[in-house]
Amino acid sequence: MSQPLTVPPGTKVRLADFDPRFKNNDDEKSQVDDQIEANCQATADLAYRLYAENRRAVLLVLQGMDTAGKDGTLRTVMRGVNPQSCQVVPFKQPSIEELEHDFLWRVHRAVPRKGNIGIFNRSHYEDVLVVRVHGLVPENQWRTRYERINAFEGLLTESYVTIVKCFLHISKEEQRERLQARLDTPHKRWKFSKGDLDERNLWEKYQEAYEDALTLCNTEQAPWHIVPSDRKWFRNLTVSRLLRQTLERLDPQFPPCEEGLDGIVVV
Ligand code: AMP
Ligand code: MG
Repeated sequence: MSQPLTVPPGTKVRLADFDPRFKNNDDEKSQVDDQIEANCQATADLAYRLYAENRRAVLLVLQGMDTAGKDGTLRTVMRGVNPQSCQVVPFKQPSIEELEHDFLWRVHRAVPRKGNIGIFNRSHYEDVLVVRVHGLVPENQWRTRYERINAFEGLLTESYVTIVKCFLHISKEEQRERLQARLDTPHKRWKFSKGDLDERNLWEKYQEAYEDALTLCNTEQAPWHIVPSDRKWFRNLTVSRLLRQTLERLDPQFPPCEEGLDGIVVV
């Protein structure tokens, strides 16, 4: 049994067709730690080259319902990467200043510079997710945003950024368990807010909004990956592999050295 990570652009995504508990037959929790470690090590080495090359950037976009594991994923996959060459940008409720600009203003400023890996913990997709579900702007405004997002991601891709978009797909039951664990575990309680329960009550509306984002913004240049995330280890394995493969494809090179260095002795 297999489950695709991506679907061809233009295909309508139905999340019910994707099992959040999916794992490959040959993957077992006990055996994957070494694989995740190897992926992270390879990523760290390639990130060093990307930084030295200073011509291109990678942007990892993490989206998912509350407790889907955005924080845990980035903690795992960025292990070992030089902090100077990566930035994590969490997108929270927009500030007044941000609201006084177009929805992509704060996002464009946060795009990684050449040589860097950027991680968006939530992203411009919130502007067609929470904004749509709560009707924070009228429908005629959020409706046009799918195209705007595609054009924006097209601009980045043509310029110098390779975008890796991951939807961390969890089930409603798994979310229940994780929210309960936050309540029951003293050092996790700070992560819980009562508002999380209100959002949980809107689960179906969010799934619909995600289906549209995953369908309408699934382009050749910046495809969506639907990452089964009920098992944390499978999620980490999948995202760490994606990041590694992306960097391997880019194959960043050290820049040429100055000429005439041979034979120089530093005294
Ligand atoms: P957390 O990721 O748990 O720290 O929560 C951040 C919160 O900010 C989430 O509830 C998001 O839905 C919310 N948020 C992020 N971007 C936006 C946006 N553009 N408009 C409204 N709320 C947002
Ligand atoms: Mg939260």
